[in-house]
Amino acid sequence: MSIVDTNTSGTLPLWIDGKAVAAQSKRTSPITNPATGEVVRQAPMANAADVDAAVQVATRAFEEWRATPPLRRSRILTRFRELLEAHRDEFARLITQEHGKTLADAAGSLQRGIEVVEFASGVPHLVKGEHAEDVGRGIDCHSMLQPLGVCAGITPFNFPVMVPLWMFPVAIACGNTFILKPSEKDPSPSLLMAELAKEAGLPDGVLNVVHGDKEAVDALLNHPGIKGISFVGSTPIARYVYETATRNGKRVQALGGAKNHAVVLPDADIEFAADAVIGAAYGSAGERCMAISAVVAVGATGDQLVETIRAKAAKLPVGPGDQPGIEMGPLVTREHRDKVKGYVDSGVSEGAKLVLDGRAFEGAGRESGFFIGPTLFDQVTPDMKIYQDEIFGPVLVVVRAETLDEAIGLINRNPYGNGTAIFTRSGGAARRFQNEIEVGMVGINVPIPVPMAFFSFGGWKNSLFGDLHVHGMEGVYFYTRTKVVTTRWTEDKPVGSSFVMPTLGR
Ligand code: NAD
Repeated sequence: MSIVDTNTSGTLPLWIDGKAVAAQSKRTSPITNPATGEVVRQAPMANAADVDAAVQVATRAFEEWRATPPLRRSRILTRFRELLEAHRDEFARLITQEHGKTLADAAGSLQRGIEVVEFASGVPHLVKGEHAEDVGRGIDCHSMLQPLGVCAGITPFNFPVMVPLWMFPVAIACGNTFILKPSEKDPSPSLLMAELAKEAGLPDGVLNVVHGDKEAVDALLNHPGIKGISFVGSTPIARYVYETATRNGKRVQALGGAKNHAVVLPDADIEFAADAVIGAAYGSAGERCMAISAVVAVGATGDQLVETIRAKAAKLPVGPGDQPGIEMGPLVTREHRDKVKGYVDSGVSEGAKLVLDGRAFEGAGRESGFFIGPTLFDQVTPDMKIYQDEIFGPVLVVVRAETLDEAIGLINRNPYGNGTAIFTRSGGAARRFQNEIEVGMVGINVPIPVPMAFFSFGGWKNSLFGDLHVHGMEGVYFYTRTKVVTTRWTEDKPVGSSFVMPTLGR
């Protein structure tokens, strides 16, 4: 049986050196089931001593792990992938219990994470480097991609399995050891992943899990034994993590928040666009960094589009994510639900037109769960808070624009640049959009353009601090350092000293 017993309300352990260990810190934080409001278990809030214990273990494990041939690492990852698949239902249940999203959505997010493990299993090919013969007379040159050492991942609540899987499979495939600090709101699936990695043959100490909040994060950012930090979360914390850890000489990739726009041109299939937009806006209750939270309705079709979205969204089945037929679950915590409701209040007082009001949600779990129904605003303007802020809930705002130029200008002025989509039948308009838009991930008639694992995932502007995206080859480059070796094996007689800049090509 897993160390995460879904029936107890005890305190979770940390996972250090291939074992469950009690945290030295006695501080804990409750984990709630958002559909019922019940506390299901407690997460320990690790302190600097807990983090240091994990770093010591990961540092020791690194020497042996970096010397393990990539093909062996790859075989462990392949076995790990099989175990993730075999435990699909258990993962989905845990994710739904602690996060609130539906079981089907939870299983889908696991699948997207498994794809990164598949990608990372190709590591012997991914870290091959380059070789050139005769860069000078009798001189060859080759490059090697070598691991950094101990890396850490700090992850958000909204994808408790997928986002950690963006990070540690690639990191350990490349020969690093890893400390994962999952969100304190839904940390249990991380323990299950660590247990399964051990079962797959991962040596003790290569993957460690510490739970916690700012105290644990600060200990990771300031620990001299950690060489690389991957972070995914909100923009203010991403900026803080990036600034603190780079100041401490670490390599950092810090992915932040988003305000993703979908542009609907007048020539689009309105029915298709509305279906795509409501899935992307209200799926996972809008708690996705790639959720569509703003629609830019271009030209005369705006009224028809808003009415089609309203009619479909009003029928969306909302309720506990573990019940059949439900398409949208609750928000993660009571505080977050109240914050999202506050945004709806502010939209009304700022003069936006409230077309569908989710505040008056009626349904199962209404009394104790953290629910809000799908909410739709029309006639929203860029000066309103509901347009400017990332709400991270099921609140969709519609901004009207006259032209494609106006829509592109609006998106490019937005401080976020994670994802965007355009709905059109015009290849020319789509081509212009993909060329001019200042956003990292673009969908053309695709509402949530989350790249596959063999491409990289990452936004622009305030949606990413750092230079390299996660997974794909950018992930491999993040978790490796390049070394270039220039070699001469010659039987010619020695050439003597030279005091000029070497110019091998001559
Ligand atoms: P968050 O920023 O509150 O927390 C993320 C992580 O940082 C957690 O592990 C948390 O424990 C830690 N943390 C929180 N406050 C901290 C502090 N003051 N100092 C140090 N560490 C701290 O984010 P969240 O609410 O868990 O997740 C939602 C956010 O994540 C949204 O903004 C969403 O857009 C973003 N997100 C972005 C992506 C992306 O790919 N760009 C993906 C998923 C989520």
